[in-house]
Amino acid sequence: MTFTYAPGWAEPLFILFLFFLGLCFGSFLNVVIARVPEGLSIVRPGSRCPKCGHVLSWYENIPVLSWLGLRGKCRGCGMPISPRYVLVELLTGLLFLACLKRFDWAYPLVPALVLVCLLVPLTFIDLEHWILPLSLTVPGIVAGIVLAIPLGQDAVVNAVVGASVGFLTFRFMEYVGWKVFKKEALGGGDKFLVALLGAFLGWQSLLGILFFSSFQGAVVGVVMLALTGRAGPRGEEEKVDPSKASSEEEAEEPPSTMTWEFTKPGLPWWKRVALVIPCLLFQDIPDVTLDEETGEEQWEPEATNIPFGPWLALAGLEIMLLGPWLSRVFPVEVAMMLGGTQ
Ligand SMILES: [Zn+2]
Repeated sequence: MTFTYAPGWAEPLFILFLFFLGLCFGSFLNVVIARVPEGLSIVRPGSRCPKCGHVLSWYENIPVLSWLGLRGKCRGCGMPISPRYVLVELLTGLLFLACLKRFDWAYPLVPALVLVCLLVPLTFIDLEHWILPLSLTVPGIVAGIVLAIPLGQDAVVNAVVGASVGFLTFRFMEYVGWKVFKKEALGGGDKFLVALLGAFLGWQSLLGILFFSSFQGAVVGVVMLALTGRAGPRGEEEKVDPSKASSEEEAEEPPSTMTWEFTKPGLPWWKRVALVIPCLLFQDIPDVTLDEETGEEQWEPEATNIPFGPWLALAGLEIMLLGPWLSRVFPVEVAMMLGGTQ
């Protein structure tokens, strides 16, 4: 059962409203991105400048417009406000419109918007901190299953099977990585994100998500590795002290075998190409040290490591938003594998 509502003559107003709603949710997602990794409340206190603590008044808190009005600077201390805030707001607004284009004013629009509001913060948190917080992924899995209820029994079964199969597949890959390659395969949070995507998009989408995410992640990872010497963003330690990489201590550390093989000069190109995928998928076993103050695990990404979360999120959005289009451009067998026939 699906519910559809045709707004008729007022449709432009509804579309504008949905875009504005997306900007407002994006504004809230900025708070989630900044505070969840720090373990802070997302409700209190109100928005403030992360540099000087200046409390934002209502007119400094309007999505996009305030940033433009303030010319990207805090009114308290004059320090620049990261353009990421505007980027997240605009991205969320545009993704809301893309969901409307895909699902029209029907019930499936609701879970689609909720999924966007989960994937946007998870992507930006993973890019910055290399983590996918369980406080976002686990409630997200539950939400995906609950939101399938109005769509009927089949949809709920697809969601539960999708979450379980997604989780177990990645758990299995982790296990194989440890046992066979003696590498940490994928980050520990990835299996929860795959479960989340499986819950929202059904088990039919999983193969396509795996294919799209690893293909795009590998291609961009290799290009970035060639251009910048890194397949993913830097870790927090390296960001604090950029001179550390060139210090002698660092140079003495023997590189791990697989990373070494990949970067070794004079390697035939076909061997380099063959090593790309295992290098990106199976990350080196980290020398985990515990932080003395917090007792948390410390881990620094190596040059060949890639945060998989953003690629999974992108693949999920592609499958969800481009589903019918994929089934037109691909032969029907491929489209079925990619979960694009709906
Ligand atoms: Zn400030």
